Amino acid sequence: MKSDFFKRSALTRQLWEFRREFVWIGIFSLIANVLMLTPTLYMLQVYGRVMKSGSELTLLMVTFFLLFFYSVMAFAEWLRSRLLVRAGVKLDDALNSLVFNASFEAYLNSARHNVAEAFSDLTNIRQFLTANGMIAFFDTPWTPVYIAVIFLLSPFLGWLSIFFALIQLGVTWVSHRLSMREIQIASDAGNDSFRYVQSKLRNIEPLHAMGMTGNLRQRWFGFHDNSLAKAEDSLDRQHRQQAFAKFVRYSMQSLTLGAGALMVIEGKMPVGSMIAANVLMSRALQPLDLVVATWKPFVQARMAFVRLEKLLEAFPERAPGARHQDPFGEIRLEGLSATAEGRKTPILDDLTVMFPSGKVTVILGPSGSGKSTLARCIVGVWPDKKGAVLLDGEPVESWDRMELGPHIGYLPQDVELFDGSIAENIARFAEVDSQKVIEAAKRTGIHEMIVRLPRGYNTQIGEAGGSLSGGQRQRLGLARAMYGNPALLVLDEPNANLDDAGERSLLDAVRDLKKAGKTVLLVTHRPSAFAAADLLVVMQKGKIVHCGPRDEVLAVLRSESARSVSASQV
Ligand code: ATP
Repeated sequence: MKSDFFKRSALTRQLWEFRREFVWIGIFSLIANVLMLTPTLYMLQVYGRVMKSGSELTLLMVTFFLLFFYSVMAFAEWLRSRLLVRAGVKLDDALNSLVFNASFEAYLNSARHNVAEAFSDLTNIRQFLTANGMIAFFDTPWTPVYIAVIFLLSPFLGWLSIFFALIQLGVTWVSHRLSMREIQIASDAGNDSFRYVQSKLRNIEPLHAMGMTGNLRQRWFGFHDNSLAKAEDSLDRQHRQQAFAKFVRYSMQSLTLGAGALMVIEGKMPVGSMIAANVLMSRALQPLDLVVATWKPFVQARMAFVRLEKLLEAFPERAPGARHQDPFGEIRLEGLSATAEGRKTPILDDLTVMFPSGKVTVILGPSGSGKSTLARCIVGVWPDKKGAVLLDGEPVESWDRMELGPHIGYLPQDVELFDGSIAENIARFAEVDSQKVIEAAKRTGIHEMIVRLPRGYNTQIGEAGGSLSGGQRQRLGLARAMYGNPALLVLDEPNANLDDAGERSLLDAVRDLKKAGKTVLLVTHRPSAFAAADLLVVMQKGKIVHCGPRDEVLAVLRSESARSVSASQV
C-alpha cells in the first residue's frame, strides 16, 4: 500500500516540482550560514592573535579575509532570495490557470464561492515563499551548528544556549497553538463582511433608489463589528505574545553575556571567547526569532494552502473531453431532474423528451415552472442534476467545453456583457472575425445602432453593459449567442426587452437559423413567438405537461382554457 506521502495533492505536486530550486536554496543557505561565523572568527583573531602580536599586517590580512567572506555571504544571500522570487513566480504561473478554472467551476456550483479569495490565497502563498519567513525555515537548521561552536568555546555556555533555544521554541509553539484559531476566526469574519458588501454592490441602483442603503448598512455594521472585534482579539493576543517573546529574547542575550563574564572572572575563558559566544548566541537564536515574527504570515499561508488544496481537489483539472464531431444539435433528456441547495422538492422532475435537430421548440409555462433551469441544464451549467442531457446522443458534460462552446448559443435571462469592445463581446472574446460579427449583429437588427455610435464596433462597454439600454444589451447578447452560426441555440426570454421591430428581427433570425438546420429552444411568455415554432412544450411545476407539434398543443391549450372558462361560469 502506498503511503499518504505519495498521494500528493495537485498543490503539493506543484511544490514538489520545485525541489531542485529548494535544494539550491539550501546550498546557498549553507554557504551564507557557514560564513556567518566570519565575524566571530574575526573577533577571536583580533582579540587573540592581533592584540597579542600587535601586528598591523596580521590585522590587515584578517580584515581582508573578513571582507572577502562577507562579500561571498552577501552574494549567496542575494542568489537565494533571487531563486525564491523566481520559484514564487513559476509556482504562480503553474497554478494560476488551475486556480482560475477551479474557482470558475466552484462559482458555477455555488454563487457563495468567493472567487477573489482563491486568487488572494495564491498570492499569499507566493508572497510567503518569497519573503523572510521562508528564509527563516532554511536558516533554522543552522541553529544547532552555532550552538556546537559555542560548545567548543565553553560547554557551560553551550548548555545554556540549548536551554535558551528550547525556551525560544517553546514560546513559538505555544504562540502557534494560541494564535492559529483566532487568526482563522478573524479572517473568516473579515471575509463574511467583504462578501456581504460585494454582493450588495452588484445591485446598487435599486438599493439606492428605494432608500435601502441605510437598512443594509445597519446589517453590514453587524458583520463589520464582528470582524473588527475578532481582528482586535487576534491582534491583541499576537502583540502580547510578541512582547513576551521580546522579553525572553533580550533577557537571554544579556544573561549569556553575564554568564560569559562569570566564566572570564573565574578565569575559565578569555574575553574574546565571551564576546564571540554572545554573538554566536544571537546568531543561533535569530532564525527562531524570525520564525516567531513571521508566524502570522506562515499561518495565513498555510490556511491559504489548505483552502486552495481543497478547491483544487474538489475541482481538479479536467481531462480533455472526448472528441466528437461537430454537433447537429439534437437534444434528448432522459429522466432529467434538477435540484438546488436548500430545496425539498425538485425544480425539474424526471423529464424525458426529445428536441429534434433543425426544429424550433418554444417552451412555455407559468413563472417558476422551471423553464430557465431546463435551459441551464441543456447548456450544461446547472450543477445539481440527475438523469441525462444528451447532445447528439452523448452526455453534454462529455463534450470538451472549449470545443463545444462555439457550437452553442446561449442567451440567459440576465444578459451580462463584459469589459471590452462591442465587437469583442459579440465575438465571445475570441479573435474577432469582423464578417461574422457584422452578420450576427445584422441578424439581431442591431448593426445600424452600432455603426451610429462614434466608435462603432470598437465602442467599449463597461462591466455591466455601461450606457446601453436593456433592449440593446439583450440584442447584443443575442448577437453573441448567434455568432458563428452555432448548431444549438438556447434563448431564455430573448424578447423580454425587445420592441416590436426587435421582436420581428428576432423571429426572422430564428426562421433563418431553422432554414440553416440549426436547433432552437426558445423560452418565452409571448404568444407572438409561436409563429416561428415547430414544437411547443408546456411546463408546470417542473414537469412537462404538453409536448408536441405547435398546432396540436395550441388546440389542446385552447380547449383547456375554454373548459376552465365554462367551469368558472357554472
Ligand atoms: P420565470 O418564467 O419567472 O423566469 P422559470 O419557469 O424560468 O420562471 P426557474 O427560474 O427555472 O423558473 O425557477 C424554477 C424554480 O426553481 C423556482 O421556484 C425558483 O425559485 C427555483 N430556483 C431557480 N434557481 C434556483 C437556485 N439557484 N437555487 C434555488 N432555487 C432556484
